[in-house]
Amino acid sequence: MNYIEKNKEYIELAKSRIKQLYNEKPKLFIETAGCQQNEADSEKLTGMALDLGYILTDEKEDADLILINTCAVREHAELKALSHAGRLKHLKEIKPSLIIGICGCMVQQEHRKEDIKHKYPYVDFLFGTNMIFDFPRLLYKVLTEKKRHFFVESYEENHGEMVEDVPVFRKSTKTAWVSVMYGCNNFCTYCVVPYVRGRERSREMTCILSEVKGLIEDGCRDITLLGQNVNSYGKDLENSPTFVDLLREIDKIDGDFVIRFMTSHPKDATKELVDFIAESKHMAPHFHLPVQSGSNRILKAMNRHYTREAYLELCGYIKKVHPDISLTTDIIVGFPGETEEDFQETLSVLEEVRFDSVFSFNYSLRKGTKAASMDCQIDEETKKERMGRLLTLQQRISAENNAKLVGRTVSVTVEGDSKADPNVWAGRTEQGKIIHFPKNGIPLEGGQHVFVEIERAESYTIYGKLK
Ligand code: SF4
Repeated sequence: MNYIEKNKEYIELAKSRIKQLYNEKPKLFIETAGCQQNEADSEKLTGMALDLGYILTDEKEDADLILINTCAVREHAELKALSHAGRLKHLKEIKPSLIIGICGCMVQQEHRKEDIKHKYPYVDFLFGTNMIFDFPRLLYKVLTEKKRHFFVESYEENHGEMVEDVPVFRKSTKTAWVSVMYGCNNFCTYCVVPYVRGRERSREMTCILSEVKGLIEDGCRDITLLGQNVNSYGKDLENSPTFVDLLREIDKIDGDFVIRFMTSHPKDATKELVDFIAESKHMAPHFHLPVQSGSNRILKAMNRHYTREAYLELCGYIKKVHPDISLTTDIIVGFPGETEEDFQETLSVLEEVRFDSVFSFNYSLRKGTKAASMDCQIDEETKKERMGRLLTLQQRISAENNAKLVGRTVSVTVEGDSKADPNVWAGRTEQGKIIHFPKNGIPLEGGQHVFVEIERAESYTIYGKLK
């Protein structure tokens, strides 16, 4: 369904209500936690709010509407969102007209919805991940009815309708997230995503292609396709196009751009996909393939549906087809029942594959998931100690991998000033590595494409000079 069609009644109503309430354009402050999918949702929420008459502010204190888009993947992210919400109480006291909304994965969980309802009475409204496209209606209700609203429906009640042509506000004109599908069917036992984002729904290929073409025509040169498991793309569509079919069509578009994707589940990543990356014109030489654990016993308990051997075979194939590709992964440390032997098997996967980087997380118990009720939860001290060893090992491997790049000239997308030194540019290589190089008075701008010769390398950053 089209955005205007879906919201035609409420877009005009919300716009005129906003004009009635405010003498000048009201200000929106939006804060986003979590993954790229949440970032992409916030870009849509911001786009819709600007379309309704808001302007953006970076200062909470100036805002007329504050939205907190939350994550539920780890407890830490939820506690952080609740603590941010707690700090808004005094703003509401100073400015009673301020409207506060909390959305995203955290509030899609019944117990968190109840928490906010009862412990945060100054929060005006909540809305779940499956109601984002209803934003004009939800906002209109909040602006007209003098009561709190809890717009959270389960995915059984609301099937997570997909809406096209939604206004999107992108911070950068050079890089973009494009969702290709929503939801997940995999039910990994530690993960709350299938409960808070519902079952897999793929966007029509024609809609994705038209969005990508529009971005490229507008000068975008780095596009990341998003989905919880992009390899499942198309299974629910007529004629069941595959993810590789989608990539092939995108690759035919003319222009100077690179395509990335995330996330790919190892059980569904095919050799056809690996081969296509090698033959394509536009695919970035980067493959993020979350292994989570190197132990078959733990992989089974996680319901991951692949073995350590199958994973290593796939990585071997990727490296054979693309010797220069950057392989990265996710690891969960301290899954229930993880023994020292299991953990050693995870470390040995790091040694064997030699990933460029690893996103590692201590297991976080998520209410309602199968792993939450498993025996043998690992204590925090053990998780911390194992995490320390994993990070030390990966630091060495990343440094060794990066050292091999010294002397090469690589293609880089400029991101902006280095945080550490305003006289230095920070950029990203096509493999996704962070690179710093001196400005030397040369004017560049974010998103610009340059070549940099690598002179020095550390575990997380490489350094070079403009060619
Ligand atoms: S594939 Fe597993 S980890 Fe990824 S979103 Fe789905 S359930 Fe969660």
